[in-house]
Amino acid sequence: MKIIFRNFRVIDAFTDVTGSVIVDGGRIVDVVPDAVVPHGDGGLVFDGCGRLVLTSGFVDMHAHFREPGSSGKETLESASLAAARGGYTSVVCMANTSPPVDNEAAAISIKRRADAIGLISLYPAISLTEGMNGKKLSPYLAAGRSAVRTYSPPLLSEDGRDVADEGLLRTALRAAAEGGHTVSCHCDFGGEDAAVKRVLELGVDCRIHIAHVSAKGAVNLLRDHKSHAPESPVTAEATPHHIALTRGDAEASGAETFGKVAPPLRSEEHRLELIEGLRDGVIDVIATDHAPHTTDDKLNGAPGFSGLETAFAVCYTTLVKRYNFSLQKLFSLLSAEPARILGLSGCGAIAAGNNADIVVLDTERETVIDGDTFASRGKNTLFSGRKLYGSVVLTLHDGRVVYQA
Ligand SMILES: [Zn+2]
Repeated sequence: MKIIFRNFRVIDAFTDVTGSVIVDGGRIVDVVPDAVVPHGDGGLVFDGCGRLVLTSGFVDMHAHFREPGSSGKETLESASLAAARGGYTSVVCMANTSPPVDNEAAAISIKRRADAIGLISLYPAISLTEGMNGKKLSPYLAAGRSAVRTYSPPLLSEDGRDVADEGLLRTALRAAAEGGHTVSCHCDFGGEDAAVKRVLELGVDCRIHIAHVSAKGAVNLLRDHKSHAPESPVTAEATPHHIALTRGDAEASGAETFGKVAPPLRSEEHRLELIEGLRDGVIDVIATDHAPHTTDDKLNGAPGFSGLETAFAVCYTTLVKRYNFSLQKLFSLLSAEPARILGLSGCGAIAAGNNADIVVLDTERETVIDGDTFASRGKNTLFSGRKLYGSVVLTLHDGRVVYQA
């Protein structure tokens, strides 16, 4: 189906024009600056009134979709809808389900179900070790390069567990590198700074991505690493909650219950260093770490927040409104860079030939966040009651409208 977006502010990491975007057959077929594209010829027409922002769909490198095993917290349906409402068109879901996703068949079965739901492109990560037991390589990695694959995960990850055995970690990273994979390291155990230092000093030639950087020391280690080794393939992410909130916000909601997250919310000093890390490129992307839980699980200390539906508003309000980041920079963090790191071709930019994965935003619209209205089953957010700028008006995936406010 042909769709014409006329008179929009078309902005991504590479472009900033006012004009029109024409979509057909699941692809962006043309980007027309300045020209007023005529109405109609049978397709659907959206008018941006010269004001609404059109950019490429967001790409989340880190979310927990909870299936299989914990559909009380989230289902593929509810998570997909939450993603679409948040402007996300591509999402990597972590492997720490029950059972953990440690083999290709399990990943494919999740991907097939998500494809059937059809709201987003879902890429299940696969674990480094069998059953995430930290004892031997996962069946996926053990099968090695010679295995015939139909699904190649854009990320491998042991999630919050990391691999304690350093020999096994090296073996896993070497196997990942041979398969051309990027490995997301969570660096939660033994303190974030020490865990990041350990990973940076392993010296294995593997593309490593550091998940949810939250500590000043870790930012400085990464800054040092990148300045001494500009060609290093190490990348890093920060979450919306760590850039917007501090320990005080966690304590106000219960540091061991509703305010609990891993890594924890820290002091203002740490938060400001994260902002600087994002500004100067030490941290490459924003990832949600969407971690939906039931209310009972939060009361029992389950860490994490439901993040997909607030990510844009939180990041826009914090980074653009408060810290003067450009919209182009924000879209680099939310879309272009994660697409590049994950190797998702046709994603991350509004350009002819790319996938018609598009999000329309009203950056001036203020909304009061209410977790109870989330599409996600996880209503756990510290942003409830906050007035934030920036809302998602429409999300297009594969050329189809998957969400419209
Ligand atoms: Zn996680």
